[in-house]
Amino acid sequence: MPFTVVSTRGPFSHERVGGTYRIRYSAGGVSSSISRLMDHEGGTWVCLGDGSGDQAFEVEDHGNYRISRVIIGRKETRGFYEGYANSTLWPLFHYFRERVNYNQTNFMYYEIVNKLFAETVKRNIDANTTIWVHDYQLALLPGMLRNDGIKNRIIFSWHIPWVSPEFFSLLPESRQLIQGIARADAITVHTDWYKTNFVNSYRFVTGSDDSIDSRVFHIPLGIDSRYYASKAKHAHYPLDRRDRKLIFSVDRLDYTKGLVNRVLAVEKLLSLYPDLAEKFIYVMAVNPSRASVRQYQIFRRELEFHIGRINGEFGNVNWMPIVYMYKRLGESSLISFYRHADVALVTPLSDGLNLVSKEFVACTNDGVLILSKFAGAAQDLKGAVIVNPNSLEEMANAIRQALTMNAEERAQRLAMMKGNVEKKNLTWWLNRVRALAARKLHENSS
Ligand code: UDP
Repeated sequence: MPFTVVSTRGPFSHERVGGTYRIRYSAGGVSSSISRLMDHEGGTWVCLGDGSGDQAFEVEDHGNYRISRVIIGRKETRGFYEGYANSTLWPLFHYFRERVNYNQTNFMYYEIVNKLFAETVKRNIDANTTIWVHDYQLALLPGMLRNDGIKNRIIFSWHIPWVSPEFFSLLPESRQLIQGIARADAITVHTDWYKTNFVNSYRFVTGSDDSIDSRVFHIPLGIDSRYYASKAKHAHYPLDRRDRKLIFSVDRLDYTKGLVNRVLAVEKLLSLYPDLAEKFIYVMAVNPSRASVRQYQIFRRELEFHIGRINGEFGNVNWMPIVYMYKRLGESSLISFYRHADVALVTPLSDGLNLVSKEFVACTNDGVLILSKFAGAAQDLKGAVIVNPNSLEEMANAIRQALTMNAEERAQRLAMMKGNVEKKNLTWWLNRVRALAARKLHENSS
């Protein structure tokens, strides 16, 4: 049963460099997970053509599958992508109320771009195709396809948190949005909580009491744990750390990731426990993200200000507590850090799932994971040291606990987490979605 997968991010884009084109592979776990499905099963991937050279590659055959790109202009990118998707929906669905930008013009562009996606999808299906739509940028798409008479099976996977009903209803377009998604046959989210919130939001906002709960499924995205584990076996030591413990984190630069709180927790740790000075090194890798959005530029300055201040206060010529890198890490560096870190710090203020935490678990042999209770992955990784990232004291104490934890406890916690990551892996996730595509669902194509 072929899939037409739809997501804003595709597997790669084309950048124009001088007179030629260069391929840029997408960052992010979701697109690399979908790539594996497409490589294996074929089908079509409808995505945004966001590379400077993508116009010349609107339709492209790649290995086993076809890529069909939606090309939009600068105004649409600003209104749809930077505007409604990333300045309205993203902060709202991560509980950042004060950052939500309410803007009707941006919503108009969101509708326009969703419509362009609908037109492209219609050109890329036949009667047997299952349409698999991904994430918050495309919430109106299932409804638009249904209104155009499309009766194919539609699965919608939502990858960020789903907020409580009252919070969701802050959004002036909440009704259109949730009714759009609900026209899919099946909806998947990453945790039980998001499922409950989605179902309650639907009832709260639409006033309807239909059986939506039977069509919403909690299926957390998994990783290819075997691949990570086998790569990690050959990972080299990533730095000269002189017997110091290595603490590691890697995130996109995003205010949801709790980066400022995390460096403030390191400051708190050194203030509360001065004997830990020079005993560890914290490597903080931050992946540039949404650099054209003003909120992100301001946030970067704030983060770097605190890192400089803390290093200035606690560091000396031989040691800096925080080694900061503002760049995307390639896979082999990333895996080396995962493999050799004593502690991984994954402390978002809000996060739909968080793949980094699962990748660390797959790669490490002996490390401790400190994980925010507000990451969707906390439901899966019960062996982590779970923290509330709003408490600097709690985080500082968790870091100390992790640095001093005995080998037996480390092994017990890790075994529990590895069990989950290995069982609920990427294949498990894809099989669950395939099963949804195959089963008889509630008729929703009216
Ligand atoms: N990643 C990477 N290099 C980096 C930072 C991140 O390859 O420098 C990858 C990481 O391996 C993971 C994904 O990007 O697969 C991030 O996914 P996650 O769910 O943790 O966070 P998101 O960025 O999607 O919010």
